[in-house]
Amino acid sequence: MKSLLEIIKNAEKKRVAVGHFNISDLAGLKGIFEAARELEVPVLIGTSDGEAEFVGRYQAAVLVRSLREQYKIPIFLKSDHTHEMRGVCEAAKAGYDSIIFDGSKLGFEENVKNTKKAVSQIKKINKSILVEGELGYIGSSSKIFDKPPEGAAISSEDLTKPEDAAKFVKETKIDLFAPAVGNLHGMFKGAKNPDLDIERIRAIKKTVGIPLVLHGGSGIKDGDFVAAIEAGISVVHINTEIRVAWRKGMDASLKGDQDEITPYKLFPQAVAEVKKVVVERLRLFNRI
Ligand SMILES: [Zn+2]
Repeated sequence: MKSLLEIIKNAEKKRVAVGHFNISDLAGLKGIFEAARELEVPVLIGTSDGEAEFVGRYQAAVLVRSLREQYKIPIFLKSDHTHEMRGVCEAAKAGYDSIIFDGSKLGFEENVKNTKKAVSQIKKINKSILVEGELGYIGSSSKIFDKPPEGAAISSEDLTKPEDAAKFVKETKIDLFAPAVGNLHGMFKGAKNPDLDIERIRAIKKTVGIPLVLHGGSGIKDGDFVAAIEAGISVVHINTEIRVAWRKGMDASLKGDQDEITPYKLFPQAVAEVKKVVVERLRLFNRI
């Protein structure tokens, strides 16, 4: 089986993107896994700090690896937005395939310094782990907000500049880069997510020379995704839409037979709703 780096490089070459979806439980994981298996495309499973605390980093690593080995499908695990060095090291030791050190709320120099430290710690534990760095703050929670988060990069002067991106990547020696290009975490009540700055993606891609990752994919228009992938995005993160789907499925099954108490009979609707969203997104990202 190809390594995660080979898979991402291949996506980069073919101008498609690998889908990344977060999980909090087995129902979410099953929905994502079934979608990827049905479409026969690679997929990334993500856990944020909060999700990892609930699932367990070692447990998530074993679950994802067991699916990859038993079903021979390219499913990999990424530690999403890891803020502390302790979490970074735990993810590396647990067997994550990729780790994001998120210093995007820090100033440029501080972000460089901490990201560099994360790269060196991770590579010391396992040099094949792909390390991702972020420049430009895009909010931090995957939920439905009343309005865009305080301090998030929305106006064009706050978005990641190609020259800063080049400097950041060169100094930190990260493998993957996540810029702020109009994308935001979460979705917003009564408001659409902002448009992506496609020309900025193209310019950043040209200067950094490593695969680009688009965070905050939930709520972005299909046309923007297609243009962003064409301009150089090789991985797309989706979380909020998965959470909405999970909730929809759970609500429906809990409202059904009031006497049903068997969890494995209640969860399948959540699995099905998650799968539906992931199939749609994977078709778009992989141009199927
Ligand atoms: Zn993200």
